[in-house]
Amino acid sequence: MAAISLDRLSKDYGGSPVLDAVSLDIEDGEFLTLLGPSGCGKSTLLRIIAGLEAQDSGTVVIGGLAVDGLRPKQRGVAMVFQSYALYPHMTVAANMALPLKMRRLSPLQRLPIVGRLLAGTQAKVRQIEEDVRQTASALEIEHVLGRKPGELSGGQRQRVAVGRAMVRRPSVFLMDEPLSNLDAKLRVTMRAEIKQLHRRLGVTFVYVTHDQAEAMTLSDRVAVMLDGKLRQVGRPLEIYADPAERRVAEFIGSPKITMVEARVGEGGGIHVGGHMLAIETGRQPGSSVVLGIRPEAFTPVASGGRGELLAGRVRLVEHLGSDLYLHLDAEGQAEPVIARLDAERAPHVAAGEQIHLAVRAERVLLFAPEGQRIRTYADRRPPAAVVDTNVAARRGHAR
Ligand code: ADP
Ligand code: MG
Repeated sequence: MAAISLDRLSKDYGGSPVLDAVSLDIEDGEFLTLLGPSGCGKSTLLRIIAGLEAQDSGTVVIGGLAVDGLRPKQRGVAMVFQSYALYPHMTVAANMALPLKMRRLSPLQRLPIVGRLLAGTQAKVRQIEEDVRQTASALEIEHVLGRKPGELSGGQRQRVAVGRAMVRRPSVFLMDEPLSNLDAKLRVTMRAEIKQLHRRLGVTFVYVTHDQAEAMTLSDRVAVMLDGKLRQVGRPLEIYADPAERRVAEFIGSPKITMVEARVGEGGGIHVGGHMLAIETGRQPGSSVVLGIRPEAFTPVASGGRGELLAGRVRLVEHLGSDLYLHLDAEGQAEPVIARLDAERAPHVAAGEQIHLAVRAERVLLFAPEGQRIRTYADRRPPAAVVDTNVAARRGHAR
């Protein structure tokens, strides 16, 4: 069992920084997901934790021990890669046994024929076979131990990759987009299996993905990474409901949040187009603000109805069973606005019709023009709730 502490990790491949002072404390037994778009530095960070890559500056502590000088094998971590990295010419059993052979047998004992004649080899090999069999049984892949990776389904290969990481009984699992090579349906199944595996093993998982559905469903906490920086660390719902900045709000949530340019009015309140929203910002009259509205925060109203914010022409109506998505070309908006309505209660609208959308003041997320969140009286959660989950921030490290 091991907690992980990252302190101001930076990395540069000779261009712009790939990691910029990343600090993060991961608790023992926690499932933490690094979530961010492709190229934001997730794999680099994971590889630095594993010891496969060296940081330019900063430290990695695993289980109370600074591991910066240690090689991957010595760190007590196991990594599962997106590509699975299985040896195609070896059987599943041999693939899974390899990390144990490397660890438990001497170089001479590993020799194909001579090795077997050396004292103690037979007993050790039998123990390795037994450990592999036990792990395979736990993952329900015992029946494929004699096959080669090429003879397995995608899901089985994924399990073998996990199995190979598991046999060593690591105190930390590092997983880099382990499900991205699977089809959508299998991804959902394997997602549930990874969650169960974490529960059963109770060890620390650091999981990398660009898929927010994976991050939201698997994690105790999610760390959102953009451009090599950690932007926000928190429980999944907290990040959705209480984003720290505009870019996090835009990255998390599907369909995407709508951003509306607005201005603080003379007597307080916010002017949007011809409408007024009673939101006290504490900002100077005349200053610009941006309103963030999640798709489910919109309600259709009659023209001029209470809380009306936007109006526009319906470009598309998507029926998703319980939900209905309205795509709107709204006046003054560059991108289509998407409203998520309850299918049973939504008014009947068709493409081409004009519709008016209202939003309640307390459902609006407010941002400064530069992107940082402005918290208002209407935000039920105080800012401390966000900072609180980020232990590194609490200790005063740069985020
Ligand atoms: P992610 O896993 O989030 O997609 P990576 O950590 O793989 O991102 O990469 C982050 C950035 O670092 C990318 O711009 C990538 O091109 C660059 N990068 C990663 N590894 C190397 C390397 N070995 N040499 C040069 N640039 C690299
Ligand atoms: Mg990657």
